[in-house]
Amino acid sequence: MFDIIDRVIDSGEPYRASAIPAVFDSDGDGIPETHYFNLVYQPLLDGNNEVYAIALVATEVSELVRAREIAESSQRAAEAANLAKSEFLAAMSHELRTPLNAISGYVELLEMGIHGPVTAAQLEALRRVRASQRHLLTLINDILSHARIQAGRTEFRIQPLLAAEIVGSIEALVSPQARARGIDYGADPCDGELQLLADEERVRQILLNLVGNAIKYTDPGGIVRISCRAEGEWVLFQVRDNGRGIPATNLESIFDPFTQVGRTLSRPEEGVGLGLAISRELARGMNGDISAESEMGVGSVFTLRMRRTGITGT
Ligand code: ADP
Repeated sequence: MFDIIDRVIDSGEPYRASAIPAVFDSDGDGIPETHYFNLVYQPLLDGNNEVYAIALVATEVSELVRAREIAESSQRAAEAANLAKSEFLAAMSHELRTPLNAISGYVELLEMGIHGPVTAAQLEALRRVRASQRHLLTLINDILSHARIQAGRTEFRIQPLLAAEIVGSIEALVSPQARARGIDYGADPCDGELQLLADEERVRQILLNLVGNAIKYTDPGGIVRISCRAEGEWVLFQVRDNGRGIPATNLESIFDPFTQVGRTLSRPEEGVGLGLAISRELARGMNGDISAESEMGVGSVFTLRMRRTGITGT
């Protein structure tokens, strides 16, 4: 305290300090408590600009300091709980995949007639077992990816990529699904020079999810288009459909885990609502983002933006 007074006298400048602890018994119960004060040592100057006195203003801020401590400790607890949850999910997903692989193996043996002849009705039942097994495996893989990203365990191999090549590589992967649903799928012409910085597998995973959704949520006869273009420092990939659309109130929440619009249990083929959450997390992990625009009954546009590279003359 004397040091501070000396400093204020020498400099003629006020000195401020926040949340300084002081231990004393203020409620008279004989037990000292810690109080916190914001302090101002204000020099009072005479006509010659000399310090003739120092006013000390102390404001008690104990409640504020305690509230801040509580908030910080609950945030730390929430972060620890989140990490534990993610690690539990990652471990569980591994445990779930092993028996699922066994199911697929035994179905295959039965189909091949290894255990004796199989009737047409039995084959049909086996086909359904296999379809359910595949669906469950997809869900578990989604949960596993989500848990991995949440636990900060996803690594990205960022490198320069040609946007047109990425768009081109999607076609072969989504055409069977588009054909099966009677959707006209196509890619708009894309600048062959345009380059982005991203992890190739991940950016393809995101686009496959966006195109997959567009096909899923558009009625047969509908149109789905993918395109890419430059916008300043960004490469924008857009996936458009003329499907059912998304209500304005849901345009943000669809990116939250396990959020689905108008979900009915009678359509289990529609997934668990993790696709967009994973896609956004992956996009952000590569310094990009995803956004959605939509009009009910008219269609939706999903935009993936990734960092552009290889720009000459800028
Ligand atoms: P999932 O497809 O597994 O339900 P997603 O996270 O991929 O999960 O999508 C979340 C929800 O967003 C979907 O359930 C659907 O309601 C809505 N949605 C996503 N893409 C579209 C689209 N192109 N058109 C209409 N609704 C969509």
